[in-house]
Amino acid sequence: MDARIGVLALQGNVSEHIDAFLLALERMGHGSSSEVFEVRSPADLAECSVLAIPGGESTTISRLIDKNSLYDPIRVFKGGIFATCAGMVLMATRVDDPRVRPLGLIEMTVDRNAFGRQRESFEADLPVAGLVGKPFHAVFIRAPVVSRTGKSVKVLARINKGIVAVEYGRHVAFSFHPELGNDTRLHELFLHKNGY
Ligand code: GLN
Repeated sequence: MDARIGVLALQGNVSEHIDAFLLALERMGHGSSSEVFEVRSPADLAECSVLAIPGGESTTISRLIDKNSLYDPIRVFKGGIFATCAGMVLMATRVDDPRVRPLGLIEMTVDRNAFGRQRESFEADLPVAGLVGKPFHAVFIRAPVVSRTGKSVKVLARINKGIVAVEYGRHVAFSFHPELGNDTRLHELFLHKNGY
């Protein structure tokens, strides 16, 4: 089946996600009929079978989602969503910052910038549930943490500060940036879960 992968392109790490998904498709042996493209409007979203919400600034992305009339279309989007960092913040039901209007697609509470200024970014080798082989080399940049999850949310990874990767139905969300570097295992896992 051909994948039609949209990357929400309002702000943030858009090109990195496009490159990571292209590499993942190539490694999975998908032909050129699978596509990766930018999403800026409800019409673009209607073309996608799955969506990525990248890292960036969740307050800004939240404002632009509203401005581009994407809030309700994303909420009722039928495909899986791959969300990283600011994207994870947006997927939550509750966020500790009133400037973010979360999409409420994963039942969880997320704290923005949970590591404070002293530890704005760091890297860690992280075991992630479902990943075969070595731990994932995770890059955290002003990362959020999940402080509470609903019963049906599956925790995929945690560090001492809290939960940093979750799965809920067809959706996955990560505090860190799997689109950086060239380990595409998490992108591939997501595409597999969505039937590709
Ligand atoms: N701290 C940012 C936010 O909450 C996320 C940082 C990132 O995506 N790298 O919006």
